Amino acid sequence: MSIDPKSYQYGDDVLKDRVILITGASDGIGRALALHSAKLGAQVILHGRSTKKLEAVYDEIMAIEGACRPSIAVLDLSIADADAYVALVKNIETEFGRLDGLVHNASILGPRISIEQYDISEWQRVLHVNLTAAFVLTQQLLPLMHASEDPSIIFTSSGVGRVGKPFWGAYSVSKFGTESLSQMLAAENAHNSLRSNCLNPGPVRTKMRLEAYPAEDRDSLVTPDEILPAYIYLLGPDSQGITGQSFDIQ
Ligand code: NAP
Repeated sequence: MSIDPKSYQYGDDVLKDRVILITGASDGIGRALALHSAKLGAQVILHGRSTKKLEAVYDEIMAIEGACRPSIAVLDLSIADADAYVALVKNIETEFGRLDGLVHNASILGPRISIEQYDISEWQRVLHVNLTAAFVLTQQLLPLMHASEDPSIIFTSSGVGRVGKPFWGAYSVSKFGTESLSQMLAAENAHNSLRSNCLNPGPVRTKMRLEAYPAEDRDSLVTPDEILPAYIYLLGPDSQGITGQSFDIQ
């Protein structure tokens, strides 16, 4: 059956009992996805760097009738060392014993400036947060994902992850790398049930979009809630067998 992830229709319990880790769940698209996944029955692990912001999302989930109690995983992707990743994985293993969904959503924009002027340490920071951290987290969590019956990884891409445009610098390069990482993972796991796909959200009304386009009419942009069906499709059972693909939501 072919399904258009943009207009995907699903039941109220499509993610029932799935354990799903969402990076950057404190704000923007990640926060909206965490709340919606909890409404659909998922056991959500909220990742971010700010305990205060994550606790606010935790409280919102706890106010949803019937939602499972979420977990919080605080880890600053720009500075986390090996021990911090090991501790995060150990906590998930102890609490759940498996991971059904991993959504790589956290990213930073970095400077929008020419290659000629791009600061080298900023370049390294953006690539580290957006790409290297996603690689490390994926690698460390793979054993727990293989313990799931229906594991799914979503990487978040961008239009500038497919076409190099002036002044997008390390952000663009990190998203090209993200597409490659997702494709390699899909191919390396072609003979098991793990699927790996990329989603490009398109322009969405968040603080990152405001940072990139401060003069834009924000009312013309879709909200994070409006793009969630594509994420739910890739996290739920209807996308079984779909892997190594890259979707544009808008
Ligand atoms: P956002 O509102 O800026 O949210 C980014 C999230 O990442 C926040 O939860 C943020 O935490 C977290 N984060 C940033 N740096 C971190 C670090 N060092 N350690 C841990 N967490 C960190 O962005 P968004 O617009 O929702 O973007 C979500 C994804 O969509 C990104 O991958 C972005 O590249 C992609 N995307 C967005 C658009 C768009 O128009 N919005 C378009 C194309 C692609 P804090 O809350 O602590 O800042």
